[in-house]
Amino acid sequence: MPFAVEEEIIRHDAVVLGGGLAGMRAALEAARCGADVAVVSKVYPTRSHSVAAQGGINAALGEDDSWESHAFDTVKGSDYLADQDAASILCREAPGDILELEHMGVIFNRREDGRLAQRPFGGAGFPRTCFVADITGHVILHVIWEQSIRDSVATYDEWFAVSLIVEDGRCRGLVAMDMRTGRLHTFEAKAVILATGGLGRVYEPSTNGLICTGDGMALAYRAGAALMDMEFTQFHPTTLFPSGVLITEGARGEGGHLLNALGERFMSDYAPERLELASRDVVSRAEQVEIDSGRDVNGCVMLDLRHLGRDLIMTKLNQIHELAMDLAGVDLVTETVPIRPGMHYQMGGVKTDVDGRSTLPGLYAAGECACVSVHGANRLGGNSLLETVVFGRRAGRTAAQEAAEEHFVNLTPAIAREQAERIDALLSRSDRGIRTAALRRELGAAMQEHAGIFRDAAGLGAGVDALHDLKNRFEAVSIQDHGSVFNTDLVSALELDNMLDLAEVMVTSSLERRESRGAHARRDYPERDDDGWLKHTIALHTPDGPRLEFGPVTITEWQPQVRSY
Ligand SMILES: Cc1cc2nc3c(=O)[nH]c(=O)nc-3n(C[C@H](O)[C@H](O)[C@H](O)COP(=O)(O)OP(=O)(O)OC[C@H]3O[C@@H](n4cnc5c(N)ncnc54)[C@H](O)[C@@H]3O)c2cc1C
Repeated sequence: MPFAVEEEIIRHDAVVLGGGLAGMRAALEAARCGADVAVVSKVYPTRSHSVAAQGGINAALGEDDSWESHAFDTVKGSDYLADQDAASILCREAPGDILELEHMGVIFNRREDGRLAQRPFGGAGFPRTCFVADITGHVILHVIWEQSIRDSVATYDEWFAVSLIVEDGRCRGLVAMDMRTGRLHTFEAKAVILATGGLGRVYEPSTNGLICTGDGMALAYRAGAALMDMEFTQFHPTTLFPSGVLITEGARGEGGHLLNALGERFMSDYAPERLELASRDVVSRAEQVEIDSGRDVNGCVMLDLRHLGRDLIMTKLNQIHELAMDLAGVDLVTETVPIRPGMHYQMGGVKTDVDGRSTLPGLYAAGECACVSVHGANRLGGNSLLETVVFGRRAGRTAAQEAAEEHFVNLTPAIAREQAERIDALLSRSDRGIRTAALRRELGAAMQEHAGIFRDAAGLGAGVDALHDLKNRFEAVSIQDHGSVFNTDLVSALELDNMLDLAEVMVTSSLERRESRGAHARRDYPERDDDGWLKHTIALHTPDGPRLEFGPVTITEWQPQVRSY
């Protein structure tokens, strides 16, 4: 039976794809600008990965701090690849956005004198990370969600987007499956805002939720929008073994130590000034060197919080105390916990300008799926939540304003029918093909092996071959659930298809960049090379794989310097 296509077209001025922080903030702003706006999300919005953010959100609010200092730290953290106009906007607008969140109802922790508390984070010259204990994302997402209900933003939750619609060189809408019925619907919009989050699950293990499969990046890429800097993947220094679940940087921000098997605080050898609070790329590499040199404890190093005392741990790090107990059987008050670096964040994404416009007219992007670029080659902890609210707001406003100048073009369900045929073809394969889950595990392992913390030409070349092989074998994936109601087997296969395209871009870009910068550490090119590589990598889709181009980095105030912590 052919997959069902709904004939009726759903129309909104602006459609936001994604109900995490970036999507909700964009929708709120578009609604406030007078647009009729809808959010489409494959999960109930408050289950988006933003809900898992623990450590906090940055803004220069301190008496002696300044947005310029925050911007400098961000640019230095990025290993000078961030666009400095974008980083300046991020940091200059941060205090206003934090106060706005506070006024909306986010109950940030406070100091004794009543001002907002701020904890030190890696690579930051001042304590400037605002937090709600270690459940910051949870609280902010719920508050913004409540605001969007008040402002009557329509939501289509548990709807899975399968394609963008491009006509006459402009993005005009998207096709999404209502997962409750399996029917494919056409959304027509004068502006589409992508806020689909990260692609963490391209690697295994990852700190990211299982839903972080990069769908929006893949949809944009196939629709002709440019992706940028996809070789820059952040490995977080403290993830639990073997699950990969995150222990927040707040643990080090509050004073936690890293120890090797000999009990040494090894960071003094790698970052003598900032120690455990150097940038994430620096700390993760240091851990990996300790592990590879045999000073490991079963493939891990140890995080020690014991000296912080029970009171601090149980009030400010309560969630990770619980996670360490449940997942590693460790009581952080009295014991050290084994941790290792793990895939956490994708710096690259859909290339946008500072107002969220992608390279495809009518398509905007914000949050982790976008690359503005404020994080460059390495993101500072606490800057991603900030990016979602600052650039979510800016994208929402721009999209609403530009939508007001556009007209509906009366789309037909033609693209939905094409997508139905694609799905029919998947469903009609033999039941005895390869299972999606098996191929997904292989993909994760291949990325971890070939495009991990340290890379080289041989490994990345093998990675490109592995990706071609996986893409070929995807043609033999079969779906055993032939039903239409909540067919998660089908959705996983469509997600895997997205992940394979993105992984190919990631390894190809990594192989091409012959230098070490931020999170991209090449053993065969160990130095940063500003003459050759102070430029963005831009990837465009072709039927034969990605075509790479390069674009300039915007430098305003801060010339590249040697980066040490
Ligand atoms: C464990 C963890 C802790 C973190 N802690 C911090 C922190 O303390 N501070 C910080 O700054 N950053 C932190 N980060 C990073 C930060 O949380 C994320 O980068 C950010 O929240 C991403 O928000 P987003 O709105 O871009 O995407 P998400 O919150 O991931 O939302 C993506 C949305 O897109 C929707 N979607 C995706 N694909 C489809 C599709 N095909 N169809 C329909 N809908 C779709 C999903 O349903 C979801 O609603 C953390 C990340 C993790 C994983």
